[in-house]
Amino acid sequence: MEKRLALSTPTMHGEEMYFINEAFEKNWIAPLGFNCDSFEKETAEYLKNGTDNEMYCLSLNSGTAALHLAVKLAGVKRGDIVLCSDMTFAATVNPISYEGGKQVYIDSERETWNMDPAALEKAFEKYPNAKVVMLVHLYGTPARMDKIIEICEKHNAVLIEDAAEAFSATYNGKQCGTFGKYSVLSFNGNKIITTSGGGMLVTDSKQSRDKAFFWATQSREPFPWYEHKEIGYNYRMSNVVAGIGRGQLLHLEEHKAKKREIYERYKEGFKGLPLTMNPYLENSDPNFWLSCILLNEGVKITPIEIMEKLNKENIETRPLWKPMHMQEVFADNDFITANGQAVNEDLFSRGLCLPSDIKMTAEEQDVVIDLIKKMF
Ligand SMILES: *Cc1c(COP(=O)(O)O)cnc(C)c1O
Repeated sequence: MEKRLALSTPTMHGEEMYFINEAFEKNWIAPLGFNCDSFEKETAEYLKNGTDNEMYCLSLNSGTAALHLAVKLAGVKRGDIVLCSDMTFAATVNPISYEGGKQVYIDSERETWNMDPAALEKAFEKYPNAKVVMLVHLYGTPARMDKIIEICEKHNAVLIEDAAEAFSATYNGKQCGTFGKYSVLSFNGNKIITTSGGGMLVTDSKQSRDKAFFWATQSREPFPWYEHKEIGYNYRMSNVVAGIGRGQLLHLEEHKAKKREIYERYKEGFKGLPLTMNPYLENSDPNFWLSCILLNEGVKITPIEIMEKLNKENIETRPLWKPMHMQEVFADNDFITANGQAVNEDLFSRGLCLPSDIKMTAEEQDVVIDLIKKMF
């Protein structure tokens, strides 16, 4: 490849510049303004998906900031246990440490690569006082939400949903980002739509949204002078950046359709090889943010060998997220499996993320498929 073929890069369309220009013309550069308000309303409309559910969005400068405020809203305090997805990006779980909470990691099921409800149930047996669950939808594949919600309700636990990778994916027709008491989207540079950097907190409670806004704007009390009773943060999204988001939102469905095409094309291309694609449930509609492969057990080549070979051809691939319970920084955190065998360690040793950029041509994708085929 002459130019590097990446996992996922920004795809702009033109409307983004329209909203940015408008911000410049009207001097809505700072601090907040019309683009932020509109981006929040438009995102809420999208997530409501024709229902009349209440939905309040707060645009922030990163998905991580949104996760941090979600953890605060859920009331996590020093020493509190939070039951967390184990196979994920560290950004999902770091905010728990910001608040002094303790992550207990929950293994994944093979059917979605997401939190295994059976392991979550076991975790509640061991930690009956756990009051918060932090769940991720990996690579845009919805987790088994009916079971997860049932278990959370049974144990009276607050669900935080990290839908950073799953914007536009649905489960039983309901949008990811609307299952949590507090849910989070990310518009980081490699996500399905991007603002160059940014995030969104989503909740059905106006009061929670207002509280998060307060924290995100330095916890300023309503006084003529700067009056503070709580620690605050500078987490708001800029109005210029929100303009990019408004333009991107118009193309979300189109991005999703292209991601699916890429996934289907890999699936077709790999027919007959000893590997499978990242799996999903029948009642879910993933956004296919990243297409991944899982080498069959006993296959002689490793994901790292494939990665190195493709890298020589200027093609980016990456192992799956290294499970959090295997990370040095979380060496003291507990890890719960359904039956003693760590599914995530197995997935990590055999899985690989493939180029899933929607600007990739069919010819370019064929090169990737052929290079991998030749390795068997
Ligand atoms: C990208 C990502 C985040 C963090 O989002 P940022 O906007 O980069 O802070 C959180 N969780 C997961 C699973 C992600 O992939």
